[in-house]
Amino acid sequence: MSTPPTHRELLKAGISRLKAAGIDGGREDARFLLFEAAGISSGEFIMCEHDPVDAGTVSAFEAMIERRLNREPVSLIIGHTDFMGLSFLTDVRALAPRGDSERLVEMALELTADRSEGRIVDLGTGSGCLILSFLSERPGWTGTGLDLSPDALSLTRENAGRLGLGDSLTLIEGSWAAAEEALSDADMVLSNPPYIVSDVIDTLDPEVREHDPMLALDGGEDGLTAYRDIIALCETALSPGTPLLFEIGYDQAESVSALLSGHSFAELEVGKDFSGHNRVVKGIRL
Ligand code: GLN
Repeated sequence: MSTPPTHRELLKAGISRLKAAGIDGGREDARFLLFEAAGISSGEFIMCEHDPVDAGTVSAFEAMIERRLNREPVSLIIGHTDFMGLSFLTDVRALAPRGDSERLVEMALELTADRSEGRIVDLGTGSGCLILSFLSERPGWTGTGLDLSPDALSLTRENAGRLGLGDSLTLIEGSWAAAEEALSDADMVLSNPPYIVSDVIDTLDPEVREHDPMLALDGGEDGLTAYRDIIALCETALSPGTPLLFEIGYDQAESVSALLSGHSFAELEVGKDFSGHNRVVKGIRL
């Protein structure tokens, strides 16, 4: 029988395979996958890197590397993602949470710093990462999450339950207009709608194009369909003074700001993500 590899040797072999396939971030990905397969933290890895790995972990890790070689994102392979310091179940039912979207939640928290109670609405809630991370920081608030996809809502519900926020969150299945009543009572509105230009979807990385739901990505011919619909709805439904915060694509700050200012929203502000790209637009209903 051949000697089992050590954790370190197994990791090195995984990194080499991902790098050879030209996968960006292969080193980090292989580390995450090994920690998951072995059930260890990065701190524990340092303690056991020279210890042999049991056969079950070797085969689990190799199966994960195979999936990554097929360009499945790490979040889907391990089934969870950290977002705003919380763990969210992640699978094909909804768009995987992105670190860049944390900026939207941070801006919503800044705007409500002096409000211990209120109602928040999230349009296109998906995994629930935005509204649930907001509610976990604002325990006196309640929320309504809307999504067209029943699959996405089943994932939102699981995430809410795991975070102990099931009682604070109401979910609505439907198109944007189904949120009208909730919007009329809202103190804060968030949305990360589908915003990719339809023709651009084919050029996205396979991790996104083949693994995130198309419903969560496709923003129509100019990428702005959802913004137009949501802004028109919010113009009629929101009370004066209510903030509306959107996640946007890096090149959409101007067009989304123009839609907002053309529909009774003022105090426009653009927020940047960690890479310095425009990522959030805020407006306040006049
Ligand atoms: N941020 C996603 C991406 O480009 C797009 C998400 C969306 O359309 N809302 O990978």
